[in-house]
Amino acid sequence: MKLLYAEDEAAMAEAVVDVLTYHHYLVDHVADGEEALAYARAGDYDGIILDVMLPKQDGLAVLETLREEGNHTPVLLLTARSGVEDRIRGLDLGADDYLIKPFAMGELLARVRAMLRRREDYTPTVLSFGDLSLDQATHRLSCGEQGETLPRMEYRLMEVLLRNQGIYLSSEDLLVKVWGYDTEVEVGTVWVHISALRKRLAALGSHVTLKAKRGVGYTLEVSG
Ligand code: CA
Repeated sequence: MKLLYAEDEAAMAEAVVDVLTYHHYLVDHVADGEEALAYARAGDYDGIILDVMLPKQDGLAVLETLREEGNHTPVLLLTARSGVEDRIRGLDLGADDYLIKPFAMGELLARVRAMLRRREDYTPTVLSFGDLSLDQATHRLSCGEQGETLPRMEYRLMEVLLRNQGIYLSSEDLLVKVWGYDTEVEVGTVWVHISALRKRLAALGSHVTLKAKRGVGYTLEVSG
């Protein structure tokens, strides 16, 4: 599960990132509202933890813009104890939940889990294309009777490709969507995973191939 976390207080942010990472979430941390918006637009997040008081653009403005743009990623707002109006406004703007600062880490984790569970209620658990289906709960990629559970990053790559059917994604797009905006992973890693996915599709006997167009990018295609 990949989370975006917007918080400008450095010590607080570090502690929260540590806890979330320890609990196996992939976390992109940003420290102002403009960055939060840019990351939320570019990345493919399962959830966003958004502090209301942020420099450049506050969390409510970020939330409002995202919802106006049709981005429905679940949002957990972090608000000050005195911020009753922020909370009401945030929920009206489409926040999923809020948490009052200061909070206990256990409470944050519980809210994050609840937010992600609700998201799963609304999204299909199986993505499909041609003769392929990918189960988002078990990470199993199937073609007819054949199937295999994908390693984590290969799963993320396949998920992004399935969610962007008919669209060519460049290696750089895939790098950002799968590994995150500020990853230190190099583009060569994307190619390695593409090659692994191609072998897997062939081994499953699927008619779906991962097509590459020079200078444009990659997309799934049904052949034969
Ligand atoms: Ca803040």
